Amino acid sequence: MARVGFIGLGNMGGGMAANLAKNGHDVRAFDLSEEALAKAKAAGCLPVASAAEAADGAEAIVTMLPAGKHVEQVYTESLFGSASPSAILIDCSTIDVATAKRVAEAAAAKGLTAVDAPVSGGIAAANAGTLTFMVGGSAEAFARAEPFLSNMGKAVIHAGISGAGQAAKICNNMILGATMVATCEAFVLAEKLGLDAQAFYDIASVSSGQSWSITSYCPIRGVGPQSPADNDYQGGFAAALMLKDLRLAMEAAEQSGTQTPMGAKARELYEAFADAGHGGQDFSGIIRTLGQRT
Ligand code: NAD
Repeated sequence: MARVGFIGLGNMGGGMAANLAKNGHDVRAFDLSEEALAKAKAAGCLPVASAAEAADGAEAIVTMLPAGKHVEQVYTESLFGSASPSAILIDCSTIDVATAKRVAEAAAAKGLTAVDAPVSGGIAAANAGTLTFMVGGSAEAFARAEPFLSNMGKAVIHAGISGAGQAAKICNNMILGATMVATCEAFVLAEKLGLDAQAFYDIASVSSGQSWSITSYCPIRGVGPQSPADNDYQGGFAAALMLKDLRLAMEAAEQSGTQTPMGAKARELYEAFADAGHGGQDFSGIIRTLGQRT
């Protein structure tokens, strides 16, 4: 078993660090929050006083931070000065592709190896160790990161070169945002046309309109498998996080000169939803702004 540095013990990182400890690793954990540090300690990690201390002597250094600016700051101000060249640096945060590439290049210039490894799956999957990781970096870097990621997830996929993990994440979530809005619209229209929601589900879930948004996460209460719709749109994947991912996707689209009109519309709708004070609700709750009656 290895010594692992873990920085960022929030909603996601807390459970991920706990799973590394459960798998026998010596986890040196750091967060700016005392509460997060106390939780990590209770989960079997050793709280330390700084990110540099977490990185010192570690074979793997995992970061799970809010955004690109936090990752860049922790890498440049703490990890570059303290990580050993034999360590693998694994950033699991969802950040913009450009920062992910820049950070990996800066690491390489310091003789360090870094991968971007954002996740699919929410807090429940982080706690259960059933996340999906999409990894950007060389084949050699992927091979070094994979055993640690396997301790925290059910699937670890090599997406390609540095930044490819983040690219996969935002492209996937752009599909998700757009299909959720389309699914919500279809259920509202079906209802207005006098079609029973269950009947429409039974048809669409085995027809060409089928998607994960319908069959795994149906936005209608009492229809399909259990989902946040059954819990008044609480829990699940917060609309604010969907908006974050859609903003990253639109930023990448603009930088790469890609036309993404559906993604842009989904971003606009989630922006309005969050601005109206619903950012903490599950993202399927957007159906309420589309005229849902039931
Ligand atoms: P969070 O805000 O709960 O946790 C982030 C943690 O980072 C906090 O505890 C904060 O104190 C800590 N932090 C910030 N700056 C720091 C620094 N300089 N040094 C040390 N610690 C620092 O966020 P989260 O929900 O755990 O999400 C983390 C990342 O995972 C984000 O990039 C998010 O987009 C992504 N993500 C979240 C979910 C989800 O469902 N929550 C799902 C997939 C991906």
